[in-house]
Amino acid sequence: MSGQFTNRYARLILGAARSVIGPEAWRDALRQAGLARYEEALPPPSPDPGITFAEMSAFCQAIRERFGPDGKWMPRRIGHEVFQQGLPSYSWLANLARLVSGSCKRLGSEFYNAMQRAAAIVRMETGTFPLIWREGDWVYWDNPSCPYCVGLSCAEPCCDLPAGTLEAITAWVLERPVEAIRVVQESSRACGEPSCRYRIEW
Ligand SMILES: [Zn+2]
Repeated sequence: MSGQFTNRYARLILGAARSVIGPEAWRDALRQAGLARYEEALPPPSPDPGITFAEMSAFCQAIRERFGPDGKWMPRRIGHEVFQQGLPSYSWLANLARLVSGSCKRLGSEFYNAMQRAAAIVRMETGTFPLIWREGDWVYWDNPSCPYCVGLSCAEPCCDLPAGTLEAITAWVLERPVEAIRVVQESSRACGEPSCRYRIEW
């Protein structure tokens, strides 16, 4: 399957990546991913299709390879930054009440609703359809058309950028430090599994 990110979402991700990894590593990753056309100027902030899933996947892969043992940690940090820089653009999220009080049960359903809204954004910006469900204390996020590992083959799940964004959204909604949130990727299409699935523990 070949999908595309909207220009505005690709702009957000590439801009966040540049501020996290610095201009030199960023330029190298762009070139490695066939995205050198954005070295001078990021994609425009438009809703038109821009970067393909395969290009974005190669970009993430280049970053993982460059940072070696930190390779998984770096895309998570970029994912955090995507949330920080993207928040002002999505008023639905900015207007969302943060969940500092209330019973655990209420918190669970409010958090689930927040994740549904996040999934709606992903649908709008990538055309893919993440599924969300609750199971026990945890919330699952499952994307059968994950746009971050197209054309990749990994020994272990490797879609860390969206994992980082999920961590940041969860931390923000619950008003907790991002370090207190655990998002575990349980499966990945890059490992031959049918979807990229995350377990969000909070
Ligand atoms: Zn994936």
